[in-house]
Amino acid sequence: MLPADPMTTANLLDFDLEGLAAFCERLGEKRFRATQLFRWIHQRGASDFSLMTDLAKSLREKLAGTARVEALQVLTQNESADGTIKWLFDVGDGNAVEAVFIPEDDRGTLCVSSQAGCAVGCRFCSTGHQGFSRNLTTGEIVAQLWFAEHFLRRHLKRDERVISNVVMMGMGEPLQNYAALVPALRTMLDDNAYGLSRRRVTVSTSGVVPMIDRLGQDCPVAMAVSLHAPNDALRNDLVPLNRKYPIAELIEACKRYLAHAPRDFITFEYCMLDGVNDQPEHARQLVELVRKHGISCKFNLIPFNPFPASGLLRSPQARVLAFAKVLSEAGLVTTVRKTRGDDIDAACGQLAGDVKDRTRAAERLAARRRTIVLHPARSHAASTTAEEP
Ligand code: SAH
Ligand code: SF4
Repeated sequence: MLPADPMTTANLLDFDLEGLAAFCERLGEKRFRATQLFRWIHQRGASDFSLMTDLAKSLREKLAGTARVEALQVLTQNESADGTIKWLFDVGDGNAVEAVFIPEDDRGTLCVSSQAGCAVGCRFCSTGHQGFSRNLTTGEIVAQLWFAEHFLRRHLKRDERVISNVVMMGMGEPLQNYAALVPALRTMLDDNAYGLSRRRVTVSTSGVVPMIDRLGQDCPVAMAVSLHAPNDALRNDLVPLNRKYPIAELIEACKRYLAHAPRDFITFEYCMLDGVNDQPEHARQLVELVRKHGISCKFNLIPFNPFPASGLLRSPQARVLAFAKVLSEAGLVTTVRKTRGDDIDAACGQLAGDVKDRTRAAERLAARRRTIVLHPARSHAASTTAEEP
């Protein structure tokens, strides 16, 4: 059989079940055929229609001429000493994105990318420094899970599901790729596909307020918000999107989201940057902020994973613990994230992939870096190349 022509055929990874049912109807097939097909693709990892033996031969022939299941090409695969596996996938035109599998005793988490690069341009993020190239399609988002799940089952010789959790914490801002994100989330949740519970699928956002509201309506899953600063002056500098959606608006959107969310709290992520946002005063301001808004939340403190172009350093462990203590003593549940896979550059914010920047964000960030305002006592960070402490 000739390979399906990508110019004229539909990639079935682009469809959630509803979309696949509509596609089947266009072929003159009953909608329930879509469920069978969806299971073959996502539960069994099949991409060859001729092997889908319980589908009528006539349907298999129609599919061969009109559809394909197109995975992403793996450029590299790296396995860390701690079992973390990172894949670099080719998404064409010189762009590549990364996905990371993080095994733990009681779960297997896949960290998935949503864009080639990112337009938000956070100062501490390697993806942000690469600039933005393009949104991934639904198929490209789902293909990361499709590939990883079925690869891992073979690799670990397991028949049952390996990936129990998905976090949209790879490259890109998922809520700036909303149209592709929602069918991908629905596929993750669908019992005929990956069957993940809403609590085990997390969207992490830098704070695209209108899309937080839409996600609450369309597909509420667990929500993590990258806060990183307790006041607008500092957050404007670290997360430029804050100038458009300041902290008070962001937290109010989080409160509205909680009315729909599968968990009764928002996770605030806070990347600990030496001398920038890690002082006890910042922790006290955070306590005041969440009290003022009365938001139900947990804090996840992330040790900064340095990369030279950022000009930033990781906070010493003692400072992270002191910060966590202020939050905990105020009654806020606070965890410190373990870094995983640093030996293969798979830790948070190190996912750089390979992005053909159409926005020249790298130059803009370099120019902003020269104006960075640091805590006076730690201002050495501005002139030091970032390295692991
Ligand atoms: N764009 C989304 C999701 C991808 S980033 C967001 O910003 O939430 C996922 C998480 O990694 C975010 O919390 C982000 O702030 C964090 N992160 C980015 N760069 C990092 C770095 N160098 N070290 C540690 N965490 C980082
Ligand atoms: Fe984009 Fe998130 Fe990185 Fe900020 S932290 S640049 S929003 S990927």
